[in-house]
Amino acid sequence: MRRHHWIFSGALKRIIGNPQPGETVQVMSSRGRLLAYGAYSPRSQIRVRVWSFNPDQQITASFFHQRLKHAITARRALIRDNSVNVCRMVNSESDRLPGLIVDRYGDFLVCQFLSTGAEFWKSVIVENLLSQFSAAGIFERSDDAVRLKEGLPQQSGLLAGHEPPELIQVREGPVRFLVDIRRGHKTGFYLDQRENRQLVSKYCADTRVLNCFAYTGGFGLWALHGGARQVVNIESSADWLAVAQKNVTLNGYDGQMVDYVKADVFEQLRQYRDTSRRFDMIILDPPKFAATAGQVQKAARGYKDINLLAIKLINTGGILFTFSCSGHLGADLFKKIIADAALDAGRHVQIIRYLGQSSDHPVALSFPEGSYLKGLICRVW
Ligand code: SAH
Repeated sequence: MRRHHWIFSGALKRIIGNPQPGETVQVMSSRGRLLAYGAYSPRSQIRVRVWSFNPDQQITASFFHQRLKHAITARRALIRDNSVNVCRMVNSESDRLPGLIVDRYGDFLVCQFLSTGAEFWKSVIVENLLSQFSAAGIFERSDDAVRLKEGLPQQSGLLAGHEPPELIQVREGPVRFLVDIRRGHKTGFYLDQRENRQLVSKYCADTRVLNCFAYTGGFGLWALHGGARQVVNIESSADWLAVAQKNVTLNGYDGQMVDYVKADVFEQLRQYRDTSRRFDMIILDPPKFAATAGQVQKAARGYKDINLLAIKLINTGGILFTFSCSGHLGADLFKKIIADAALDAGRHVQIIRYLGQSSDHPVALSFPEGSYLKGLICRVW
């Protein structure tokens, strides 16, 4: 046993008793040795999610207090530096709290309870969060489809404290954002890209930047902060482009510097190719193309397509920021896809930096599935 937190149904010989969803069970070896305590999930292929491998550990409120304390302590430096008031506080399995996500947006916490175990202990977790972090309110966004695999309904709403405003204003250092935690993607914002967004500002003085899959314009704002002359945001959703526009105003930038293109990136890049539009920097941060291992080949074609088009559109010496958040598509394959795209584009492309998810999204060594975001900064000649 390599201390992985998931125990699949096929690995269990028999269930003794009649445990209810989320209830704590003991996992025993065939020789009767106690291996772990975990939460039972009768509907999921992941039948047990381990809380603890310590046979002496009681799974009680104080266990959750301790685990939450560890997770929050690990973010202490980030929390203390009040110039950044948005981060992930609890990262599920990698923080040894399987199925629990807690994200901070200013004075509010947004939680996802994505497993029967996290759901079972919800009130204890919320009470503990209130005692350890002075939040104005705690909001639930358990509307992720993975809940259905656990036999849990999708739900969201206020769990404690005050109702958050329609758009919460948060700070990533010098850049401010408005976040819709009720309807926004994930818990409202792509916190996993925080450190990568900052990096954009290092490469874009006096440049024209194309920000593809823009959502609320996060990368574009950091490009403006870094001195970009012009930013074009492409996004398929008009609602999110409207928030992107509000974010530009909020940060005091001249509206003339930013274009908002409601379009499909695949089509828009072709249009730019056909009209000979060129950019000094292109950012590609698409949604997950491969949700399962079976979709990797098709996803690879999608990544190749947009990267090939983008590489062709970059001026000599310009920069490509390219990402994949498909966990099933590994970093090596991603690099190969970009290499193939560079080859087909007939350009000389150098990797200048390897990127991953931000440090508040740690990956436990026993939980490689926790690593999903990979990216490259490339220079294109
Ligand atoms: N870069 C963003 C997050 C991007 S998430 C950030 O840092 O905040 C991916 C975004 O792409 C979503 O907002 C989604 O609405 C949009 N999207 C998905 N498919 C698209 C397509 N084919 N063309 C344009 N936008 C698309």
